[in-house]
Amino acid sequence: MTDGRGSSLLRSVHGFHVCERTRHPGPISAHPLHWRETSLLAPGPGQLLLEVVACGVCRSNLHMIEGDWAADGVPAINPIIPGHEVTGRVAALGEGVTGFALGDPVGVQPLWWTCEECEYCTSGREYLCHQRVITGEHVHGGYGQYMVATAAHTYPIPAGLDLIDAAPLFCPGITAFGVVDKLDVGPGDTVAVFGLGGVGHMAVQFALLTGADVVAVGRTKEHLVVARELGATRTVDSTDPAALEQIADSADAVLTFADSDAVTAQALRTLKWGGTLVTAVPLNLPSFPFNQGQVIKASILGNREQMRTVLQLAAEGKVRTVTERFAMSEAATALELLAQGKLRSRAVLHN
Ligand SMILES: [Zn+2]
Ligand SMILES: [Zn+2]
Repeated sequence: MTDGRGSSLLRSVHGFHVCERTRHPGPISAHPLHWRETSLLAPGPGQLLLEVVACGVCRSNLHMIEGDWAADGVPAINPIIPGHEVTGRVAALGEGVTGFALGDPVGVQPLWWTCEECEYCTSGREYLCHQRVITGEHVHGGYGQYMVATAAHTYPIPAGLDLIDAAPLFCPGITAFGVVDKLDVGPGDTVAVFGLGGVGHMAVQFALLTGADVVAVGRTKEHLVVARELGATRTVDSTDPAALEQIADSADAVLTFADSDAVTAQALRTLKWGGTLVTAVPLNLPSFPFNQGQVIKASILGNREQMRTVLQLAAEGKVRTVTERFAMSEAATALELLAQGKLRSRAVLHN
């Protein structure tokens, strides 16, 4: 610890609470999360300690908590504190950290650390670093009162942004921006967005900023209402086959955010010949015709420059998150509602 004020702040905190996934994963309804008190960790060289203000609740948190990714080695530590769309205030600075002051509003996205040396890290594609460390999956995340972050992957939050509303910018926001940034569309083009949850509702807004017409497609009435409020040119209820058929072969680009074979089929049916599909979820393709000249791209998160752009666009009021707030102690409740499909928008836990 090089900062005297940081040290005294740490001394004044005797312990803090974290919401941890136990060693035994299971359905969220079987209560795999528990609360416990722990002592503060001092940030190491190049690290910051954040006093957490808010943490968004991501479907990938649910997958990890329920043990879906155990075969892939996630979580890497057990028990683990989940959460990877985190905002807070700088509470202590580790050795060598510059550019941040105590109390600064900051945020952290799923990319917690990257090597800074590989071909991806040195070409603005650090999200593909093979050594990437993911917040709340490989190291402890934001479901608690404090969290340690890597300064090189910590972002100042522009003045004027509410720290609770800003939390989803750090996963749905950057994910949606990364997807739309892979398109070459503008006025006169049509972009169809399939899956209107936390990421989809951000993608609708970024796609509108390109000047394209945006068709929002979803099966949840509330999500369609939110998409209309955010300015979608048209909304389509995907449970209505006739409505889906009306948009067949109509979109220059389609974006998919729902991990569902039925949705993938709907999205490809909507895509024009020569068009581009960008996905932020796994796809199962039984067949893919070559003679329609379509392109499929996969997208994960975005780089640091893109993350800063997302924050700037939000600060300028050009995009906004739609959130449902829960106290941090209600993490399990928020996850159960997510599992049951009962959330209208992104759940955000706050201290
Ligand atoms: Zn996420
Ligand atoms: Zn790397």
